[in-house]
Amino acid sequence: MENRIRRILIEQEARDYPMTRRILARLKGVPVEVIQDREALNTSGRDRAAWLSDAKTTLLLAVQKGPFWRSCPGTRDYICCGYQVLQVGLNCPMDCTYCVLQGYINVPAITVFVNVEDLLEELEARWAENPALVWRLGTGEFGDSLALDGLMGLNKLLIPRFAGRGQAILEIKSKWPQLFHLLSLGPNRQVIFAWSLNPPEIISGEEQFAASLESRLKAASQAVGAGFRVAFHFDPLIYFPGWEEAYQRTVGRLGAAVSSQAIAWISLGGLRLLPPLRQLMLQRFPRSRIAAQEMVLAPDGKLRYFKSLRVEMYARMREWLTQATPEALVYLCMESPRVWQEAFGFTPDGQSLARLLDGRVLPRR
Ligand code: SF4
Repeated sequence: MENRIRRILIEQEARDYPMTRRILARLKGVPVEVIQDREALNTSGRDRAAWLSDAKTTLLLAVQKGPFWRSCPGTRDYICCGYQVLQVGLNCPMDCTYCVLQGYINVPAITVFVNVEDLLEELEARWAENPALVWRLGTGEFGDSLALDGLMGLNKLLIPRFAGRGQAILEIKSKWPQLFHLLSLGPNRQVIFAWSLNPPEIISGEEQFAASLESRLKAASQAVGAGFRVAFHFDPLIYFPGWEEAYQRTVGRLGAAVSSQAIAWISLGGLRLLPPLRQLMLQRFPRSRIAAQEMVLAPDGKLRYFKSLRVEMYARMREWLTQATPEALVYLCMESPRVWQEAFGFTPDGQSLARLLDGRVLPRR
C-alpha cells in the first residue's frame, strides 16, 4: 500500500518524532514538503470530488493535539455496543465507493498522527482512572488498521500494551492482508484482528485497491495460527441482484478458512449513507452499482435500505453464519430494537450487547 504514496507533507511540529523519521526513511525518494500546520491545507470552496482522489496518494504527518481516544458516535434509537475509537489517523490509501470518510475529511491527504508516545500515555492514564471498567478499543474507524502499518509501525507498539491486561481489548480492523510483521507478537488473547468482508463481486466493483476475499481470509488464518482471535464485519452489507448466492458463498468460504472457535464476533450492518455522500459517490464512481439503489431516510438522518429488506438480509446471513461458524457471536451494528427483534428474535440493550462482546474475549469477572 505504501507504494501508492506520491507526496509527503509534514507539519512543522511533527518533524522530530521517531515515527516521522521512520516513515521518511521507508519512503526515500518521495517528494517531501514541510507545512506550518494542516489548517494551511484548507479545502473550503474546492470541489470535494476533485481533491478526494489526490488525497489517497498524499501522506500528511501531523500531531494529534486533541485526545486520541473517543467514544464511537452511537445514535439515539439504535443499539450501540459501546465501542471506543482510537483516532490514530484519518483516511486510507484504499478507495471504497461507500466510504463515509469521503464526506468527513477536510484535509486532502491521508493523515497519520506521529505522536504515538502521547497515545500510549493517554491509554495508561485512561485505564488507571477506572481499573474496573472494560474497554473495547479499535483503530480502524477513521482509516485502515493495517494498510500503512508497515510504514507506521504502530501495531508493534500497541499490541504488547494489551497483553494480559484484564480491562482492555484492541481490535485491529482492516481490508488489507499484511500482518506478517506482527505474527511474532502472538499469542495475545486481548488483540483481535478483524477483516471487513464482502463477496468478490462487491470487492472488485466497490472496494478499489483493497485485498481480495481470499487474501483477507488467508491473513485471518495466519493470525489464528499465531495465537490471536479474529473477527469479521459484513459491513456494509450490500443488496444487489444475486446477493443471496454471493453472500452465502462468501460465508461458506469464511467457515472453511477459519475455525469458528477462534472467531470473537461477526457484525452485520446494512449499507447506510448520509444523503450528500450519495451525490459524491455518483460523481466519483459513476459505474458503482450501489449509489443509485432505492433507500429511505432513517431517523438518524442516514439513507438505509427499507426495513423489510434489512431484516431479510440479516436473518439470512445469521442462518448461514450459524451453519458455517457455529461458535461465533453474530450481532447487528447500529440497528433499531425492532430490526433486532424481527431479524434475530430478541433485542439486547446497549449494555448487555457490550457485555456479550467483552465476554467473548475476557473471562467474566
Ligand atoms: S478501507 Fe475503510 S477507510 Fe479505507 S476507503 Fe475503504 S471504507 Fe474507507
